[in-house]
Amino acid sequence: MEEKKYRVLSIGAHQDDADTSSGGLLKKLADKGWEVRMLSLTDGSRGTFREELAGPCLAEIRKKEAAASGALFGGRYDCWDIEDARLTPSLENRERLIRYIREFRPDLVITNRPNDYHPDHRNTALLVQDASYLLTVPFCCPDVPNLTYMPVMLYWHDSFQKPYPFKADVVVPIDGQFDTVVKAASCHESQYFDWLLWPDHLEKIDWPREKQVADLAERFGRMFSRYRSTYAAEVLEKFGEEAESIKYVEVFEICEYGEEPSADFLELLEK
Ligand SMILES: [Zn+2]
Repeated sequence: MEEKKYRVLSIGAHQDDADTSSGGLLKKLADKGWEVRMLSLTDGSRGTFREELAGPCLAEIRKKEAAASGALFGGRYDCWDIEDARLTPSLENRERLIRYIREFRPDLVITNRPNDYHPDHRNTALLVQDASYLLTVPFCCPDVPNLTYMPVMLYWHDSFQKPYPFKADVVVPIDGQFDTVVKAASCHESQYFDWLLWPDHLEKIDWPREKQVADLAERFGRMFSRYRSTYAAEVLEKFGEEAESIKYVEVFEICEYGEEPSADFLELLEK
């Protein structure tokens, strides 16, 4: 019998959301033979402080940067044409997402939680949640066959405390995938080496690329170590003696609108 080909879809509002928030897990799954797909719901066209870049020019740059990142995971990184900072949980967007998810048929969908400072992030979570149940309803978007199963759905980490703090249901050691996450982030040159340095670290824009990447690796290292220490109890519970050798983790919360992951499925993600 042919072995099942698993598929994972990570959905963010912007081009650097999916890979820098779930890239360790995505790389782990890619190496296990999963098909990896990432999707940015907006075109990213407003994330700049440079007048000459803002608009369609930046959207084109972001598309190319996303494609380069997608290649690191052996998959596609799709970017929708919805204007950055203008994403709404409209019926049109919901149905577009239902069709998109149905066509890819993922076993696992990852996105951000609906509590977030950025309206595009909040609306991304809302769109994924709104799409979830309807994926299986035949006469909703009947032009694309409905799913006959519900994918597992996970939220990537955030630090927002209201209305409730993040819960680390899934813990993924990513020491072996760390370099790929940094490489993926480095693909988003117009963000990590330009826009995201504004306004407090503008001096870094002129640093040689090697130094910029090392700086980025240090920041990501601090972030993943912080997850490791914040969720030390969960890491210990899941990995026992092995926990000692784990330096970096990504953590995910289970979205209750998706399928409850079985112990075997969780093992596919965590081991
Ligand atoms: Zn974003």
